[in-house]
Amino acid sequence: MKITEIINGKRPSLSFEVFPPKTWDAYESVKNATERIAELSPSYMSVTYGAGGSTAGYTLSIAENLQKKFGVTSLAHLTCVSSSKEDIKARLQEMKNSGIVNVLALRGDIPDGFDKEKLEYRYAAELIEDIKEFGGFCIGGACYPESHPESPTSFDDIKYLAEKVRCGCEFLTTQMFFDNNILYNFMYRIREAGINVPVVAGIMPVTNPKQIKRICRISGAALPQRFCRIVDRYGSDIPAMRQAGIAYATEQVIDLYANGINAVHIYSMNDPDVAAAIKRNVSAIVK
Ligand code: FAD
Repeated sequence: MKITEIINGKRPSLSFEVFPPKTWDAYESVKNATERIAELSPSYMSVTYGAGGSTAGYTLSIAENLQKKFGVTSLAHLTCVSSSKEDIKARLQEMKNSGIVNVLALRGDIPDGFDKEKLEYRYAAELIEDIKEFGGFCIGGACYPESHPESPTSFDDIKYLAEKVRCGCEFLTTQMFFDNNILYNFMYRIREAGINVPVVAGIMPVTNPKQIKRICRISGAALPQRFCRIVDRYGSDIPAMRQAGIAYATEQVIDLYANGINAVHIYSMNDPDVAAAIKRNVSAIVK
């Protein structure tokens, strides 16, 4: 099933992101964790793609397993920045052969010291064009309510986002954010810029204070005072922080649904217990 059919449905959607193992030794345990999440019957599941395609085979086999064994629609991430056009064609053919019809088309982070002149892909829009030409995929892309860290201004970021949609991106998934008002402002601005594709809100339940610094460095997400108080108070108490992080994320999800954001994607970090807790907390809402 296409992701757009799921997220355009009347029922609110709740989906989960998982990541593949980096090495074969971890494959079974990661696969088991993703299967426990699939047992929660999410609307769909996405599987990330390691930098530079380092996990390409695992991304595909995890995505394929979820779809074939559990009937859960899979969204396979694909980055292009370190790939050639030929590599990308080969990956798309592998996806097609595995029955994957949904792809999140990403640029990926440019590795340090890379000669940008030699890149065959510079931006996700170019990948989106190639996937569209290849045919047969429902194509998603990333968006950044607090702007992509490389963007000089949020105006530029939205201008290039519109370009991505013009190239064939059919839905967008947001970077994580911890203040829903940031998303509501972003929605207003993108709609005003003529971007009318569905937007899936990405929510990260922070259950471990060690995650926080890394998250902020990578995503540029601002941490609201209310969230910082929780971390200050419970950060050193692991079970308490876990409970508080899940409660905070649940509140965000309910507020999003209540304000008309019908599709929420949980960055579940391969943690089936966190995924189950969020699902349970909104079970009467997404029923
Ligand atoms: P783009 O859309 O190409 O944007 C990158 C930057 O270039 C932005 O600042 C944009 O404004 C700017 N830009 C775009 N077009 C132009 C242009 N024509 N001229 C000048 N500037 C332009 N990374 C992974 O490695 N694996 C994953 O699985 C993965 N999953 C992700 C899922 C989500 C939902 C999100 C939000 C991010 C994910 N990432 C992943 C991270 C992502 O690869 C990085 O954020 C990357 O730096 C940008 O990717 P993009 O597809 O958003 O790039």
